[in-house]
Amino acid sequence: MPNQNPLFIPGPTNIPDRLRHAMNVQTQDHRAPDFVKTFAPVLEKTKTVFATRDGQIITFPASGTGGWEACITNTLSPGDTVLVARYGMFSHRWIDMCQRHGLDVQIIECPWGSGAPADKFEEALKADTDHKIKAVLVTHNETATGVKSDIAAVRGAMDAAGHPAMLFVDCVSSLGSMEFQFDNWGVDIAVSGSQKGFMLATGMAILCVSPKALAAIETATLPRTFFDFRDMMKANASGGFPYTPPLNLIYGMAEALKMLEEEGLENVYARHHRLAEGVRKAVAAWGLRLVAQSPDLYSDSVSAIYVPEGFDSNKLVARAFDAYGVSFGIGLGEMNGKAFRIGHLGSLTDVMVLSGLATIEMAMADLDYPIALGSGVAAAQEYFRTTRADTLKAAA
Ligand SMILES: *Cc1c(COP(=O)(O)O)cnc(C)c1O
Repeated sequence: MPNQNPLFIPGPTNIPDRLRHAMNVQTQDHRAPDFVKTFAPVLEKTKTVFATRDGQIITFPASGTGGWEACITNTLSPGDTVLVARYGMFSHRWIDMCQRHGLDVQIIECPWGSGAPADKFEEALKADTDHKIKAVLVTHNETATGVKSDIAAVRGAMDAAGHPAMLFVDCVSSLGSMEFQFDNWGVDIAVSGSQKGFMLATGMAILCVSPKALAAIETATLPRTFFDFRDMMKANASGGFPYTPPLNLIYGMAEALKMLEEEGLENVYARHHRLAEGVRKAVAAWGLRLVAQSPDLYSDSVSAIYVPEGFDSNKLVARAFDAYGVSFGIGLGEMNGKAFRIGHLGSLTDVMVLSGLATIEMAMADLDYPIALGSGVAAAQEYFRTTRADTLKAAA
């Protein structure tokens, strides 16, 4: 029965029954005329989630990491300079990928727990008078630390410097959970995946590409074949795919988009904020500390939480799984052993979050953490109970 428990890792996320059923389809011929009817509306509707009009949606059978690779290989050439800040495991991994592709990566080192430093980007861009920097890469939601960065501020810094670099954003763990504004933030490529906010199985990288980034393909010389945007766009234009499409995920995506539309994106974001606030109330009641340095950086999809001095967060996560059959995120990279993570994104309700808080409390009590059993749960209960729309109405 433990496989009935919800997951509290920040991705892959819980797959609602409705989406599991939607993905359960018999093989179909992707060259048959009816494939167009399934796929074309998916591409069109996905634009809503990115909040774009002119952005081009491009998908690949891949995870988010493949999306990163598609992003850089389509737009950059060996030796090109890119500007990136490192403040967690995911920004680190994107940097590593750029280096392995022979890009010249100008890195701004930031403490883990902080976010994208718009002021430092502006400085670096202003200093780059001959425009060597071709792209600024930003992780919107750093899943390792539970930090959300201000993409509008990064765009503001680029504009203030009058710099023509492209802006590439990793929104794998934010899209469909937290507000994202592709057009308004002047993003050139946004990279996401199927297994987080879209609540689907892993296997589809989902990108949104600006006209400026599309134009860059013509002169960019990094090698690409499987991930060539042009092959994908050419095939998609006639409703097809340049190779075998991940059919089940496309069906799942059609249904996931329906679910997000029915709930309404604003409500989806509000629900994530609410769930995250409940978790943060619990963290405060335990007397523990978030890795995110200040409230403006708090992520609504994942919380990274320091364990008290002298405790090992790996043992806590192991205890929750071994004793209670519930998965939480371990501390990644610099945070290993020091912090654990509660994923609170995707298909999740107040009640599910309470079950996660209750479980991690039991694991903490088992390991003699200095916390009072029930304290975090009670704080979250009180928050959830008193902030329901109907409660507020009754009190008015
Ligand atoms: C999950 C995630 C990725 C992609 O990881 P994959 O395992 O390749 O899907 C990239 N960036 C962030 C911020 C993520 O949370």
